[in-house]
Amino acid sequence: MSWTAEIPWDPDDLVPPDDDFEPPFPDDAERTFIASEPARPSPARFSSASDALHTVFGYDSFRGDQAEIIQQVVSGGDALVLMPTGGGKSLCYQIPALVREGTGVVISPLIALMQDQVDALSAVGVRAAFLNSTQDSSERMRVEHAFLAGELDLLYLAPERLRVSATADLLDRGTIALFAIDEAHCVSQWGHDFRPDYLQLSVLHERWPTVPRIALTATATEQTHLEIQKRLQLTDARHFVASFDRPNIQYRIAAKNAPQQQLLELLRTEHPGDAGIVYCLSRASVEKTAEFLVQNGFPALPYHAGLDSRVRAANQARFLREDGIIMVATIAFGMGIDKPDVRFVAHLDLPKSVEGYYQETGRAGRDGLPSTAWLAYGLQDVMQQRRMIDASTGSAQANAAENAEHRRRLGMHLDAMLALCETVECRRVQLLAYFGETSTACGNCDTCLSPPESWDGTVPAQKLLSTVVRLHRERNQRFGAGQIIDILLGRTTARVTQHDHSSLRTFGIGTELGEQEWRGVVRQLLAQGLLAVNSDGYGTLLVTEESASVLSGQRAVMLRRDPERPERAAKTRRGTTAVALPAGAVGIFELLRAWRAAESKEQGVPAYVIFHDATLREIATGVPSTLAELGTISGVGENKLARYGEAILSVLSS
Ligand code: ADP
Ligand code: ZN
Repeated sequence: MSWTAEIPWDPDDLVPPDDDFEPPFPDDAERTFIASEPARPSPARFSSASDALHTVFGYDSFRGDQAEIIQQVVSGGDALVLMPTGGGKSLCYQIPALVREGTGVVISPLIALMQDQVDALSAVGVRAAFLNSTQDSSERMRVEHAFLAGELDLLYLAPERLRVSATADLLDRGTIALFAIDEAHCVSQWGHDFRPDYLQLSVLHERWPTVPRIALTATATEQTHLEIQKRLQLTDARHFVASFDRPNIQYRIAAKNAPQQQLLELLRTEHPGDAGIVYCLSRASVEKTAEFLVQNGFPALPYHAGLDSRVRAANQARFLREDGIIMVATIAFGMGIDKPDVRFVAHLDLPKSVEGYYQETGRAGRDGLPSTAWLAYGLQDVMQQRRMIDASTGSAQANAAENAEHRRRLGMHLDAMLALCETVECRRVQLLAYFGETSTACGNCDTCLSPPESWDGTVPAQKLLSTVVRLHRERNQRFGAGQIIDILLGRTTARVTQHDHSSLRTFGIGTELGEQEWRGVVRQLLAQGLLAVNSDGYGTLLVTEESASVLSGQRAVMLRRDPERPERAAKTRRGTTAVALPAGAVGIFELLRAWRAAESKEQGVPAYVIFHDATLREIATGVPSTLAELGTISGVGENKLARYGEAILSVLSS
């Protein structure tokens, strides 16, 4: 095996593309449009939080810490909220903005998503708007006017805009109910989503010391938590840290053999018709995979930073608006996407860290319905990532020591990810432990559903390591996994003959295992740090300091035997939409979905802005016959009842 390929991904694909962000100096923003208008605060629209919850959002009760968080902000205090994706963070600032006098100002990083956020709020009757560089001056003028006239409950801004003094002046003149800092982990310099302008957000506290602030993130590490507190000067904030468990997500990590076919099988057997995200490392594999899925009859679209921005925007819009689209993407895609009915997230390549994996898989199942997180992982992934780390440097100015430190950190991230892949224990227990939570076996991950065996691989490990050592010591040669396995299996390939491997003492001593199993051994030795990839660029293998104890018999090596069909136990779970609905409701649900699709197309808003799947399912099972009955269903608030009630009842009676 050799490594001639270039680094397979582009740094631009590690973050959302530039045009998702506000330009650093927003055009035309140095002035506001309304010079002297008598400002009025937006009145408090509800006297209690639960009143707003029922009337506006149509929900029965608060979840988790929502009630307490809202109470904290309503009463003027600061809050720092760590809650997983889908936990219900948005209500934590939306409701206080409705209960307090003034407009809630939301700092949100991606301008590309502000329109959808505003649409979703308008649909429930919340008066929301945004100011950003996608608007022309007349639109901005209208928003500024509405803000000063007290006609906005919520105003979305990108952090860059706060640097502009005119924006701050505008905010000064109006009344601010609260500041919500969404995706607050962007303030963390060590995190993968760092945004320099987030560092400026301490200005909020300095300039408007009496306005309560609420910072929210779905990033769970302790380090990020502390960094948010420090950098945003949230000294007196109450901290709310929710459990990061996502019980509705089934975590599965499969041995990678023929990844595209494996993906196809997953989609056909478990997710026909479902919306999902497929993550690939490189732009080329994004495009190939999307094409492959289309050829096989799935509506898949590509997304990566190398695509024209209009194509990207159009693909993103289709993914959000239409039902059942599969987005094949680099990790540039996904932050801030709040589509609730993403039913699966598949990784065709190994994520670089557990944080990344958790964030990406977390985009599945925001609506709480069963969803799948599936990762295909193999020897190549480990080799590729180890090699990448060797080649990587920190910032352009970094010195040798800093680069070494940078690589050490990347190595630790990868090791944790590999440990998750190779575990024979519950995936969820391990995942949560990484975020400092203790839990018990979940029953809803691949290792719980079909427990892998662990076996004593000490002897095979010794055979393999000693082959590597002998080749080097006796012949000053280094080889990749392919040739080493050929030697162990005693194969007389051209390469073996060429190098006269058959005279080696370890030639043919490993026939007790097959090629796939040997590849599993190599992969796991790499994962455990008992074998290393040479930084010569060819993927040749080396022993490590730790290997010595294995060769001398002081250390046993326990390995994981990949189950033949690791997902069999899970396969009983058919397409998730079909399974939970009683037979009679399926047809009604489909009728409602068709009605919703037409409605969303007509209005140009995502389907979930009209009604979530969860709400349609409840309607399909309950079959309400009056508006009053319909109004009791979760997710049907006053506004939606008034707007869609009759239409729903007529779909039901058709
Ligand atoms: P987050 O921002 O934390 O990822 P969201 O605010 O998007 O999560 O909420 C996730 C989903 O849960 C949304 O579909 C939202 O409407 C729903 N939700 C939030 N709070 C409640 C609640 N108290 N009752 C019912 N559904 C809720
Ligand atoms: Zn489990």
